Amino acid sequence: MFLVQDNQLPKVETRLFINGEWTTGGLDQTKEVINPATKEVVAKVSQAGEEETKQAIQAAKEAFPKWRALELKERVSILRKISQLIEEKADDLAKIMTLEQGKPLKEAKEEVLSGVETFLFAAEEARRLYGERIPAPNNHNYIVKKEPIGVVAAITPWNFPSGMVTRKLSPALAAGNTVVLKPSSDTPLSAIAFFEIAKKAGVPDGVVNLVMGDSTVIGETLTASDDVRKLTFTGSTAVGKLLFNQSGDTLKKISFELGGHAPFIVFDDADLEEAASYLIAAKFNNNGQVCIAPNRIFVDKRVKDEFTNLVLEKVKGLKVGNGLGNVDIGPLIREDAIGKIESQLADAEEKGADILIGGNRLRGGEYDKGYYFEPTILDQVTQKMNIFYEETFGPVIPLISFKTEEEAVKMANDCEFGLASYFFTKDIRRVEEVSDQLEYGMVGVNEIAISNAETPFGGVKHSGFGRENGHYGLEEYTQVKFVNVRY
Ligand code: NAP
Repeated sequence: MFLVQDNQLPKVETRLFINGEWTTGGLDQTKEVINPATKEVVAKVSQAGEEETKQAIQAAKEAFPKWRALELKERVSILRKISQLIEEKADDLAKIMTLEQGKPLKEAKEEVLSGVETFLFAAEEARRLYGERIPAPNNHNYIVKKEPIGVVAAITPWNFPSGMVTRKLSPALAAGNTVVLKPSSDTPLSAIAFFEIAKKAGVPDGVVNLVMGDSTVIGETLTASDDVRKLTFTGSTAVGKLLFNQSGDTLKKISFELGGHAPFIVFDDADLEEAASYLIAAKFNNNGQVCIAPNRIFVDKRVKDEFTNLVLEKVKGLKVGNGLGNVDIGPLIREDAIGKIESQLADAEEKGADILIGGNRLRGGEYDKGYYFEPTILDQVTQKMNIFYEETFGPVIPLISFKTEEEAVKMANDCEFGLASYFFTKDIRRVEEVSDQLEYGMVGVNEIAISNAETPFGGVKHSGFGRENGHYGLEEYTQVKFVNVRY
C-alpha cells in the first residue's frame, strides 16, 4: 500500500526546558507521544505539574529585565540565528512533525519553513517598533512608547505543532518579552525541537521555557499567576472561554485564535476549475484539521452540477496514507476525531444529505494501524444539519446550493465563528460588496493563501480576538506608555 522506508525519529530531547536547562522535573512522570499513522509510541516526554510551571514562570520573570534591556541589534541577531537554524534543520523538524502529527512530510516542511519567515519578519520588525511624538503645549514633550509586557504564557494546539509555536514566540521575543510555552500533549516534540534551536541560537537562560503536562493544572497555574501578564492561546473555542474566565482575576492582556467554520462561496461567474482546485488544496491540507479549512461550500445553483463534477474527479485522485510515504493526505490525529466525523455524517444523512464519495473509515492493511478516513463529499447540506454549524475537523466537503448573492452571504454569516472566509467571482462590484458583508476576520477572494508572515491573521465573534503575524501581531506583545515631559 504506502511504502515507508524509514520511520526513525530524528534525535530530539524529551524533557522540560526551564531556565536554560533540560529537566525531567520533580514529578518523575512521562507521557507517550503516539504516531497517528501507526499508533506506535514515538517517544515519552517529561511531565510538569504546578511546581515546574511556577519555576518556569519565575525563570521568565527573572530573565525579563535583561532580555528587555538587551541591545536591539543583539536581540535581532538571535532572532535571525533562530531563523537560520530552523532552515538548516528543516528536514529533521518536518520528520519529527509527521511522526507525531501525521501530516504529509511536504506539508510538515512547509509549516517548518513558515517559522523561518516569521522569525525573520520579527527580527526585521523589532527595529520598527516605533512609538510616537504627539504635538504638545509649549515646554512639553508628549512621547508614546511601545514597551514589552513581561512574562507571556503561550498555549498551542496539535494541528500546527511548529507553526503555532514560531508564530507566537517570534513576536513575543522580538518585542522584548519572555515566555512560558505549553504545547499540546499530542505533539510536544516539535516544540521541544524548537527549544533546542533557541538554546543553540543563544537565547539567554530563562527567556524561553517549556512545560508539558496536565493541561488543566498548567493552565490554572499560568492563568492564576500575577507574574504572567499576557496569555496567547490557539485552540478550541471551548478551552478559550475557560482560559478567558480563569484569567479574569489577574486581568491579563489576551489574544485568542479559536475555532473556525469557513464558508467558501462559488458564484456563477467564477473560474470553476480554479475554484475547485483551490477548494481541494485548502480543504485537504492537514486532512481538514485546520481552523481556516473551508467547511461549508456554497455554490450557485446554476453552476452546481458542473462544479460538483470537477471536485468529485479531483477527490477521486487523492491518495491517503502514512505521511512519510508519497501521499496527499495523512491520518487524523486520534480515534475521537473519526468519531466526530462519523456522527456529523450520520446526522446529515438522516436529515437528507447524500454522500457522493467517501464517508467511511479506511480499513485493511496499513489503514488498520492508524486513524484513516476517506476524503468525502456530502451533497444537499442544509441549515438543519449539525455539520452546518459545528466545526468539521476532517476531510469532508459539505455542498450547499444558493440562488442569490444575498442568500449566499446570509447563510455564510449564519455561524458563531468568524475566522476565515473565501469566495470566487470575476465581478468587481461583488468583490467589494461581499468582502465587506462577510463577518470574518479574513477573506480570500479568488485565493486561499490568507496566512502570511506580513498579514494579520485572526478572527471575530467566537473565533477570538487579537491578531498574529504582521506588525499587528507584534503589537499584541507590547503595551503603550505615555510620557509627558515638561522642560
Ligand atoms: P484544544 O483542545 O483547545 O487544545 C489546545 C491547547 O490547549 C492544547 O495545548 C491543550 O493541551 C490545551 N488545553 C486543553 N485544555 C486546557 C485547559 N483546561 N487549560 C489550559 N490548556 C488547555 O484544541 P486542539 O484540539 O488542540 O486544537 C484544535 C482547535 O484549535 C480547533 O478548534 C481549531 O480551530 C483551533 N485552531 C485555531 C487556530 C486559529 O488560528 N484560530 C489555529 C489552529 C487551531 P492538551 O493537548 O495537553 O490537552
